[in-house]
Amino acid sequence: MGSGLVYQGLNEAISAIVPDVSVVVPIHNEVESLPLLIEAIASTLSSSQISYEIICVDDGSNDGSGEFLRQEAQARSDLKAVILRRNYGQTAAMAAGFHYALGKAIVSLDADLQNDPADIPMLLAKLDEGYDLVSGWRQKRQDGAINRLLPSKIANWLIRRTTGVNIHDYGCSLKAYRAELLADMNLYGELHRFLPTLAYIEGARITEIPVRHHPRRFGRSKYGIWRTFRVLMDLLTILFMKRFLTRPMHVFGLLGLISMVSGTLIGIYLTFIKLAFGEMIGNRPLLILAVLLLVTGVQLFCFGLLAELLMRTYHESQGRPIYRVREVVAKNVN
Ligand code: UDP
Ligand code: MG
Repeated sequence: MGSGLVYQGLNEAISAIVPDVSVVVPIHNEVESLPLLIEAIASTLSSSQISYEIICVDDGSNDGSGEFLRQEAQARSDLKAVILRRNYGQTAAMAAGFHYALGKAIVSLDADLQNDPADIPMLLAKLDEGYDLVSGWRQKRQDGAINRLLPSKIANWLIRRTTGVNIHDYGCSLKAYRAELLADMNLYGELHRFLPTLAYIEGARITEIPVRHHPRRFGRSKYGIWRTFRVLMDLLTILFMKRFLTRPMHVFGLLGLISMVSGTLIGIYLTFIKLAFGEMIGNRPLLILAVLLLVTGVQLFCFGLLAELLMRTYHESQGRPIYRVREVVAKNVN
């Protein structure tokens, strides 16, 4: 009886610290949207009886967003403001938000009211069905057709085809994650849009649901057409990580070996015709090819070995195991 009360007290204390959800918002110059956004998140979640915290990350704004957040965070208990020293970009801002999030689930969304906070409970319900990541799908996206929708369609198709993670809208910021999943992932560059792929590498269960999308009401988009190219470069990094992170020698070693063997064979052929038939081989393009193949082969091979060393350092320095455990089932858990 007494211990029951203690447990109940403990549970209450824990749920005061660990909310059901942390809502993470990266912000760069969105001061007009912020009051509406914070109100919309707070009213949706409190009316659905979901305990929450809002983590607003000011990513080097110069329009007063930072000052506004600082004041609000002192006035209300459901808001944490994380103010970055300068503008680092959306991915870094999100990573900072994830770092300070204490919730059991984490939802990310844009500050510009293009994503609708009213969709959050639906995403959380989907997480509860047993998924680790639920991604929003802006079926009726409200952005320019030529400069945004077309590149995004192509990029999404390419990412879908190459990574094998079947969701339609990688670019949608409105996503929900189980907290343990995010704790296992590191973000670099502009990799936030590849979070589903990174999650897939970590063995996550992933799904998507259609969400609302509104036109931008205030301010301007921070991106233009150039983003498409950066996304493509990031895609290469991601592909490599997905395939060969734990076995770089399988790709570089194999290529190096093929190159070395073909170089050697051509070299033997040339030596043979030189010795047996006394032909001139000094001026033959084939000789250059043989040398080129041998040299690149050796280089690729050595590069593979170096990559193996780097990969081991990557895993060991961070104490990152090469596997992820979903659960351990045992009758007696010690
Ligand atoms: N953002 C940020 N740092 C940046 C650029 C953007 O935190 O350097 C935030 C921005 O305030 C918004 C979100 O990232 O909340 C998405 O940006 P935006 O709406 O401009 O992108 P779009 O919706 O046009 O793709
Ligand atoms: Mg936007």
